[in-house]
Amino acid sequence: MNIQQLKEAARIISEGGLVSFPTETVYGLGANTLNSVAVAKIFKLKERPSFDPLIVHIASVDDLKMLTNEPSEAVIRLAEKFWPGPLTLVLPKCKLVPDIVTSGLPTVGIRMPDHELALNLIKEAKCPIAAPSANKFGQLSPVSAEHVRKQLPGVDYILDGGTTTVGIESTIVSIEGNVCTLLRPGKITLDDIEKALPGTFVFNTTKPAKLVAPGLLKSHYSPNKPLYIYNRANLPLPESSGLILHNPGEVPSSDCKLIYTSKTGDQLEIAANLFSALHTMEDDPAVKQIFIEPVVEKGLGIAIMDRINKAAYKYQPSA
Ligand code: AMP
Ligand code: MG
Repeated sequence: MNIQQLKEAARIISEGGLVSFPTETVYGLGANTLNSVAVAKIFKLKERPSFDPLIVHIASVDDLKMLTNEPSEAVIRLAEKFWPGPLTLVLPKCKLVPDIVTSGLPTVGIRMPDHELALNLIKEAKCPIAAPSANKFGQLSPVSAEHVRKQLPGVDYILDGGTTTVGIESTIVSIEGNVCTLLRPGKITLDDIEKALPGTFVFNTTKPAKLVAPGLLKSHYSPNKPLYIYNRANLPLPESSGLILHNPGEVPSSDCKLIYTSKTGDQLEIAANLFSALHTMEDDPAVKQIFIEPVVEKGLGIAIMDRINKAAYKYQPSA
């Protein structure tokens, strides 16, 4: 880790600027949570609608107390078990958190990222950092500094930490009393969370109708060229196609650009390479449309299919 670069990034955050930084999931576009003007710059640069709340990143479980009033025993238990890690907890917010961060919601999404650079940036800047993914609204999430440069050349600073390891966004759950609701699937599954909480907890996978945050919508994370979920009916593939497969097995006879996200079908590997594969297809001018193989919707496969379905949604004939 380059200390000079870290200090420079922290200075920019303290002075109200925007810094893109790596986490274990995807790259974030960060600002000082407590500075509403700085947070407004995130929405402007990303072209993000103001009704889409941001996730606040902290560097210790203790920082929770600054953002939410009296976290319950269950919340502390989840934080201690899964943090630092890819789990966002949506909790009642306290007054200190500006409304712009939560899009006016009475709750705030909080997580502690499992990445040395991110944690040190938060500590050095001495404030919780509000950060959505560092992409233009609705487009592919960035998993490298290069992806951030491509979509957000106007960012004040990028801390380059190489390619992220998890590769898809955090799991999001809201905790209200003894009710836990899955808002977005991720690497940490609802089963993992269920095991960590007392038997008295109730688990929901149906999102509350009143919540219309785009991360929860049907279309999101899309490449800028058509993406279709691949099946036998697509064969032979049209000319100038890109095909993303998750396991080298049967290769279609069609002439296409082929990318494997995994050599073994391992879900962790597929998740880690999913957005990179989509970015590579998006960047290749020879590829006019992309086909992507589905995965089995079990465990991490639920989160992988959530991203694939959202990325492909607007290109479906019925959309
Ligand atoms: P991103 O950081 O770009 O992955 O997006 C953050 C996502 O977190 C939003 O699109 C919402 O879906 C979700 N989120 C953040 N804060 C809240 C909240 N207070 N209530 C519900 N969802 C939230
Ligand atoms: Mg995002």
